Amino acid sequence: MATERDYYEILSIERTASGDEIKRAYRKMAMKYHPDRNPDNEEAEIKFKESAEAYEVLSDEEKRRLYDQYGHAGLKGRAGHNFNQMNPNDIFSMFGDIFGDMFGGGGGFGGQSRGPRGNRPTRGYDLETLAEISLEEVLSGCEKDIDFTRQDVCDTCDGSGAKPGTDPITCSTCGGNGQVMQSGLGGMFRMVTTCPDCNGQGKVVKEHCPECSGKGRILKDRKISVKIPAGVHDGQAVRIAGEGEPGLNGGPRGDLHVVIRVNRHELFVRDEDDIILKMPISFTQASLGANVTIPTLEGEDEITIKAASQHGDVIKVQGGGLPNLRGGRRGNLLVVLLIEIPKNLTDKQEELLREFAETEDHDVLPHSKGFWEKIKEYMGG
Ligand SMILES: [Zn+2]
Ligand SMILES: [Zn+2]
Repeated sequence: MATERDYYEILSIERTASGDEIKRAYRKMAMKYHPDRNPDNEEAEIKFKESAEAYEVLSDEEKRRLYDQYGHAGLKGRAGHNFNQMNPNDIFSMFGDIFGDMFGGGGGFGGQSRGPRGNRPTRGYDLETLAEISLEEVLSGCEKDIDFTRQDVCDTCDGSGAKPGTDPITCSTCGGNGQVMQSGLGGMFRMVTTCPDCNGQGKVVKEHCPECSGKGRILKDRKISVKIPAGVHDGQAVRIAGEGEPGLNGGPRGDLHVVIRVNRHELFVRDEDDIILKMPISFTQASLGANVTIPTLEGEDEITIKAASQHGDVIKVQGGGLPNLRGGRRGNLLVVLLIEIPKNLTDKQEELLREFAETEDHDVLPHSKGFWEKIKEYMGG
């Protein structure tokens, strides 16, 4: 392929990404840019093929190692697919199995991508979308309205693609089974591919439905309300069964996977079910002890700082964290003490501190002279 874009960049993953992360990233790209979903969009098709190429390399340990070490040059002369010249559906079939097992059973990404199609009922594609939530919403759980667009059955032709009043006829190229045999490399191997004339449907439409131009599908906007459980983690997905794309030949719909993005919080950082708060306190509070008010996810709380606390000490507020996704048991709020040194002392404060320093028997700078001034004096002697 002419393209030399970085494979990790194409899939938007880190160079340290695990096999599962690579799969997941590729799956997302393939769903987003699948030409079925982006009709007449050349850019989408390029992205679709680029990501297949990236996936082919990065999912293969040996190829990935070569690529990591030598870049694109490391793969020169090694057999790979020329995705540019492949039919998108065949690319899909090639990697089809990764779409099936992503979410622990629950069915495949789309029966279309596996095995013979013909007139068999096949399950519709799964879809993926994002929902952003706040840390407060992780605490309570929430319900979000999700807007998304999906290919849906055309109402005008009821999905047949035929002009109302007419019927699709059996495809003469494949005799109705949706597949044709192709030979490649001068007859060295033969493979079964999707029939190009009926796209695997086994039927062709003579007079197209005016609404969907014969595709049987049209893009529709959909809005649903999704319950997001308390304790959910960034990157986890909530699966909504039957909200994906419609199946073929009476097959069931795919599912919708709502991937959760937990927004960064201004004050708190999450660590599993715990949350961490960095709390500035004065050195006198640290030294003498104090009761201070701290913010929590639910409002405020008061904590006691013990006398002689040190910078970086952690005070644990039991149960002040987030609920565990499974058991609901709450994590802790961890308050990390940051001791601040005062920047602008009043004369009175400075005087007291100097007296204090004397009791410590520590050297401090003289009152009115800067450090360098003192050095100069000393050197000039
Ligand atoms: Zn239609
Ligand atoms: Zn056909």
